[in-house]
Amino acid sequence: MELDKMDENDWKYHGEGNKSLVVSNVQHARVLRLLKYSTEDAENSHKTTEQAFRHIQNIVDYSQNVMKPLLGEKFVHDGEAVKLPLDFVRQLSLKVQQERPESRCDKVMDTFSGCALCLPNLTQLSSCCCCCREHRPPLCIEIKPKCGFLPSSRHVTKEIKKQVCRFCMHQHFKLAHGKWKRLSRYCPLDLFSGNKQRMSLAIKHLIEEPQNNFKIFKGGECIYSCKDDADVLQDLDELAQHLRPYFLPSGSLMNGHQSSKVVLNELIQVIVSALLSSWDPRKTHLSEGRVRCEASLLHRDLLRNTNHCLPKDCVLDKILGTQMLDNLDIEGLNPLFKRVEQHLQDFPKERSSLQIDGPYSHSFLEKIQKCPTEDDGSIEYAVGKVHQYRVAMTAKDCSIMITIATCGEEDGLDQSLEIQPSKPRFTYSVSILDLDPKPYESIPHQSRLDSKIVNHYLRSTLPNN
Ligand code: ATP
Ligand code: ZN
Ligand code: MG
Ligand code: MG
Repeated sequence: MELDKMDENDWKYHGEGNKSLVVSNVQHARVLRLLKYSTEDAENSHKTTEQAFRHIQNIVDYSQNVMKPLLGEKFVHDGEAVKLPLDFVRQLSLKVQQERPESRCDKVMDTFSGCALCLPNLTQLSSCCCCCREHRPPLCIEIKPKCGFLPSSRHVTKEIKKQVCRFCMHQHFKLAHGKWKRLSRYCPLDLFSGNKQRMSLAIKHLIEEPQNNFKIFKGGECIYSCKDDADVLQDLDELAQHLRPYFLPSGSLMNGHQSSKVVLNELIQVIVSALLSSWDPRKTHLSEGRVRCEASLLHRDLLRNTNHCLPKDCVLDKILGTQMLDNLDIEGLNPLFKRVEQHLQDFPKERSSLQIDGPYSHSFLEKIQKCPTEDDGSIEYAVGKVHQYRVAMTAKDCSIMITIATCGEEDGLDQSLEIQPSKPRFTYSVSILDLDPKPYESIPHQSRLDSKIVNHYLRSTLPNN
């Protein structure tokens, strides 16, 4: 990419989250991730180019030096902070504006600093052969799994938090506040259970109500995601049309409805195997009390009598292990946050040696890994736990990208006379994205939000409360 010869016509709108807007290159498997800020906050959000560049470099360092060692080399891709010509960024912002969903337009793209994060486009396979591209462009499934365990911390004051998972409680809160119109039946504990049946149901529920937890891309284009007034059945039919060539031999005589079911089921099975794939034959056993969420009532039988474990080092195991660094829960962490705040008031100069705002270097990771297990009353313990909590927050908010390509046997598929024509085979690669550091300052907000969500859940779902 030649930064001095950037042309907005080479880039198109790809997607966005709460904090950034992503554009993809039309020729190369690259994306640019640009930061956004809220329009209300426009005055305060202007950073100088140097500040913005530092901010993005911090994201790169954090992802590379902290999250990558925790989540595994093979899942995390390095990004690069870049400075772009302002003219290019302004043209780009005008170009993408009409593509943006209305619900995201409360924020605007940063067109002042010219800084961005350049990443490989994970919805495309860079090593894919051209024949795959033409016949069957790669599919990519994005899952934002959210927190996959129930807290077991003794600091938890509300018993319900040990019974119903945060995602399921949060759904009720979001519904009441108009964020979504329907409840999702997805429960992260099903996805992280390692039990194939429960995982398949979790993915089925994601497909039925994707919200912002599920997307499908084909050849780098988003073909399935949440729509506000979605006609679910029609969307599912369209999705099945897209997927048919990948999962059903072209000679198949199945009728439309039957084949949609088969095709979606095949997709789910491929996702499950990608999520569980690992070279390591060992297993991580999940403790009994933490794998069942009472809100996931559907399949009580499935929850009972099954031994829950994940293959060691599969993507779910790595993400769950990192999420579990939050082992005190926000209720146990808050007093430690206050200890750090007090210490910083007394010794403001220590803010940098304690690495409160970075740098996200190897020694930041060491503070996380070498944190004492018991509270010895020290500032080191408090800072270590605060850092661990922030890392866990990142792991609770990341996305998994599963990119699938068909390989070989292309030509065998048209033999409609074969009784059981062979299905195409797949290769997949799994990555993790959206690994930004969560701000230290947001901890008090997290604490308030936690009690709001729990109280709302208790009020709205349990009688006489
Ligand atoms: P969130 O609100 O989840 O925190 P965010 O604002 O931090 O989101 P990202 O999740 O990093 O932004 O990016 C927004 C979307 O852009 C992603 O959900 C994904 O669909 C797409 N995207 C981001 N990075 C890449 C990439 N490297 N390759 C392909 N698509 C990407
Ligand atoms: Zn749940
Ligand atoms: Mg995201
Ligand atoms: Mg994010």
